[in-house]
Amino acid sequence: MSAVVSSLSALRYDRPLRCPLCRIGVLVDLALMIDSLGCRLCDRLFSLDGRQNVLTLVDSLPALRWQWNGRNWTAQHAQMVRTSDKIVAAALVILPTAVIGLCAYFFRPTPGSPLAWLPPVWTVLTFLCHTGCVLLAVSSYYQFSPSACGRALGRLVRIKAASK
Ligand SMILES: [Zn+2]
Repeated sequence: MSAVVSSLSALRYDRPLRCPLCRIGVLVDLALMIDSLGCRLCDRLFSLDGRQNVLTLVDSLPALRWQWNGRNWTAQHAQMVRTSDKIVAAALVILPTAVIGLCAYFFRPTPGSPLAWLPPVWTVLTFLCHTGCVLLAVSSYYQFSPSACGRALGRLVRIKAASK
């Protein structure tokens, strides 16, 4: 328990530190590793710069970093999302979907033809793919890992199921 105090004591906090990557797990000090932290749920390793209160994900390229602001972790190089960014993201989803949907509406296939189902499905796939691209960009911007979150949730469910 004294090792927990040694690395984390540089930070001012009053509750367990949440993992900034999965946002579910709790950061703990690793035995025999100075200034290294690990998440109990997503099993990722972090190094802590106690002087600058910066947490770095060890095995990522580019290096993901978070700054401790006294209350929570914030992406170190994150800036405010501008209105123009939101407009571009919305346009990236809406415009291709609208073009495909309008083409599917105005150039309908003959009812009963073998591929009559394709235009509506193509429109939905266009929407889903472009929404996925925007969500990936958003998760990358906020340095949130959906896969780490999924792993952490799976492990949390297994732990809860095993404890019953
Ligand atoms: Zn985690």
